[in-house]
Amino acid sequence: MTLSGAFNVLRSSKFISWKSTGMFQQTLAGYIERTGKTLHTGKVSTVKLWPGFAGEGRYFDFRSNVIPASIDYATESPLCTTLCKDGYRISTVEHLLSALEAMGVDNCRIEIENSDPVGDGDHVEVPIFDGSASEWVKAIEQVGLKVATDECGNSYEKMAAHINKPIRIQKKGSFVAAFPSPKVSITCMIDFPQVEEMRKLGLIKGGGLENAIVCSASKGWLNPPLRFHDEPCRHKVLDLIGDLSLFARFGNQGIPVAHIVVFKGGHALHTDLARTLSINV
Ligand SMILES: [Zn+2]
Repeated sequence: MTLSGAFNVLRSSKFISWKSTGMFQQTLAGYIERTGKTLHTGKVSTVKLWPGFAGEGRYFDFRSNVIPASIDYATESPLCTTLCKDGYRISTVEHLLSALEAMGVDNCRIEIENSDPVGDGDHVEVPIFDGSASEWVKAIEQVGLKVATDECGNSYEKMAAHINKPIRIQKKGSFVAAFPSPKVSITCMIDFPQVEEMRKLGLIKGGGLENAIVCSASKGWLNPPLRFHDEPCRHKVLDLIGDLSLFARFGNQGIPVAHIVVFKGGHALHTDLARTLSINV
């Protein structure tokens, strides 16, 4: 086992201790390409996932611009998480990043491009598929994983941040908190935003029953059967993992080892926790 130079810059603090996961950093064993419609702009984009070198982490490649999947480049945007660097923006990154984080794809080059002739020059969105991460999970399962190596053929130990002290973030009647725990666990409580108000604001242009869970006040669920009775809550956990994956650095684990409790979670709240973690390392 070789420890890289990058590994040495992981510093423990009174809030966080970096510990080994007992595994090597991994990457994809093959190449993945998927094209699909996007949720917010309603346009079509193509994503190509390439195996990455150990220590590189996950990063987007949009028109030859590298945008690391890092909290340092996350910006506030309604209803999704957006990465922005040098004027180039990539939206709705959370489901793809959640699948990569949860499946253990620690290092990955994510090439993305607009497939729509009227696509914006400096903005692209990740396709939504059925609204969950299942398309990405199936694709990753198909190609499989392998131990990642750097350009010299060295593999790196995968580290994870353990929370030493409780961290709590509160926003307009919602909160997220991380408590010390020997393993990752998530407790999630939900509330629903107003879908019609989002449409009036010109958001979710590509949204429909095929990619969203829609609940009517008078008629209940409009697209049953749900895959799980608690699917809305599971979706919030999916979003949370995707947003916390932005805390990942140098191909190490993004989600902190903690018991995370979230009430009425949203992307701004999740990314605030990732930002708080990152300024405390
Ligand atoms: Zn989501």
